[in-house]
Amino acid sequence: MDKLFARNRIKKLILHIVNIAVNSIFVKKCLICNMHLVYYFENYICENCKNEIKIEIDNTCKICSIQIPKGQDSICGQCLLSHPPYNRHISFTIYKDKIRKIILLYKLSEIQPLKHYISSLYLKIIDEYFKGKFDVIISVPVDSGRKRTFEPVSKISDIISSKTGAKHLKGVLVKVRSTKKQSSLNYNERIKNLNRAFEINSKEKIVNKRILLIDDVYTTGTTVKKCSKLLNKYAESVVVITLARSANLHLK
Ligand SMILES: [Zn+2]
Ligand SMILES: [Zn+2]
Repeated sequence: MDKLFARNRIKKLILHIVNIAVNSIFVKKCLICNMHLVYYFENYICENCKNEIKIEIDNTCKICSIQIPKGQDSICGQCLLSHPPYNRHISFTIYKDKIRKIILLYKLSEIQPLKHYISSLYLKIIDEYFKGKFDVIISVPVDSGRKRTFEPVSKISDIISSKTGAKHLKGVLVKVRSTKKQSSLNYNERIKNLNRAFEINSKEKIVNKRILLIDDVYTTGTTVKKCSKLLNKYAESVVVITLARSANLHLK
């Protein structure tokens, strides 16, 4: 038994040395903290950074996912006044620090292999909260005017589709006119900016379906609310997952 234990330890040590050697030769560094990647299975982001990115949904509204003060009811005042057009939205964490960097590297720098790690975060939410609660997946479409070949949210939805078996319906929810960037606008302007910006094609594909709507960042929620409202005309239900939400979502 002792011999076996010793042999395993030696094996582990050798593997560790090989990992360090290989990663030093190719000088792989974590894109977030710039530390050398030590292990062979580390790609782009080190294990330490990944371990810091956790589901943060304590003290959030059970419907819209905005932050609510500790000890208060589990549904925010705004949802009590008027239920949003989706059944529930869950955002993995708050848009800051490492997750913000990862989203920017993926979306703006187009480091496409990050899609695997990013989609694993969505899958954690699905596993914990939405398992068996949707039949099809729809991603929030990119702006037709700013259309690039890379559609980051759609790519993530493809992976989620392959892991869950739910079909990713493309071309059902479409953006029919170009709009200003939402981040440059205030709350009222955001709503106006997206008026009649989305449409549903082939509505028969979503009649009575339970939809999982995927987007990346939830700021005021205007985009997913507009999309959910349209989908909900035909669907049985709409649940939404985003990767990160604005920290100061306290109601404008
Ligand atoms: Zn790191
Ligand atoms: Zn709420």
